[in-house]
Amino acid sequence: MSIPFIDLKTQYRQIEKQIKQNIDNVLEHGAYVMGPEIGEIEARLSNYAGVSFGVSCASGTDALMMSLMALGVGPGDAVFTTPFTFIATAEVVSLLGATPVFVDIDPVTFNIDADDLRRKIRYVRENRKDLKARGVIAVDIFGQPADYEAIEPLAHNAGLWLIVDAAQSFGATYKGKSVCALGDIACTSFFPAKPLGCYGDGGMVFVHNEDLHKLLVSIRVHGMGEDRYENDRLGITGRMDSIQAAVLLAKFEIFPKEIEMRQVVADRYAALLADVDGVTAPSVPEGNTSVWAQYCVLARDNAHRTELMGRLAEASVPSGIYYPKPLHLQKAFESLKYAPGDFPVSEDVASRIFALPMHPYLTSEDQESIVKVLKG
Ligand SMILES: *Cc1c(COP(=O)(O)O)cnc(C)c1O
Repeated sequence: MSIPFIDLKTQYRQIEKQIKQNIDNVLEHGAYVMGPEIGEIEARLSNYAGVSFGVSCASGTDALMMSLMALGVGPGDAVFTTPFTFIATAEVVSLLGATPVFVDIDPVTFNIDADDLRRKIRYVRENRKDLKARGVIAVDIFGQPADYEAIEPLAHNAGLWLIVDAAQSFGATYKGKSVCALGDIACTSFFPAKPLGCYGDGGMVFVHNEDLHKLLVSIRVHGMGEDRYENDRLGITGRMDSIQAAVLLAKFEIFPKEIEMRQVVADRYAALLADVDGVTAPSVPEGNTSVWAQYCVLARDNAHRTELMGRLAEASVPSGIYYPKPLHLQKAFESLKYAPGDFPVSEDVASRIFALPMHPYLTSEDQESIVKVLKG
């Protein structure tokens, strides 16, 4: 059996001509940085997401970083987020000298738990006079939206902003709305393995607000002012390359179709896994859609996961663990002084979750073989 975990080669074959043509255009016009492809991809994706502005940038991490900078986040600020995510979500908070305050997750969606968010906001207000509660970063883990109807009013009523970390969920919808149109700012990533990926690093920030848009555009290029060598503030080198934008323009052509294909694959997995003992398939609340950045299932416990992943490896079926260690237990966040047991749901999920191969071109035959291996 030779089943890729993510199949970018088959995708490339579908759009090879357009990819080569688009890259060739960049080589011909020579505007490698901030070429015409940049404005074009920003317009296409912001239009698709139903947001006024898209600001392309060098990575999903830079998208988050630029957003926090635009919101003036710094030392003494508390930013609430989930510990069950890729490190970038909380890393940028700490890099700016602010303090990530973790909130446990929902055991079904693996996204931030609104009730715990309410508790943690109150905790910071009452017990951490050294911190000022500033905002929330909700993550749409594995491509499925967080519970925005609960989270957004909670944040706004407490005077906090909301950033949507849509690095894994560009194209997903919450009650019919694109996740990138939710919150005050939404950030996504075009890392190759994400549902919409380029051929290197890339990201985008989505905003409705014109002032925030202006700030983001400035921060993206060293805090540039009206004139190129006029610097109004500090910023970063956050631009996306024209070649990556050219790749995205070609890939975006088939992206809506690929989302549908991902859903077909996910539905097939759900049906096949229904009679696998001790394996819990992911579920998405009615009214929402996931783009299935990862297809993660739960084993009964840690030993059961080891057994199942061992069986897959033996049959040459790739699998992975997203994420084996929640952020509050990472050495990088040692100074936050969290301990095992602080986020029981995140810790439990991390101990028994694992991901199966997932991509739009996965065949039903391959899925059947994968599930057969799981059954033993
Ligand atoms: C991938 C990812 C990021 C960072 O994106 P990069 O483009 O790799 O910098 C941030 N948050 C989450 C949840 C991610 O999955």
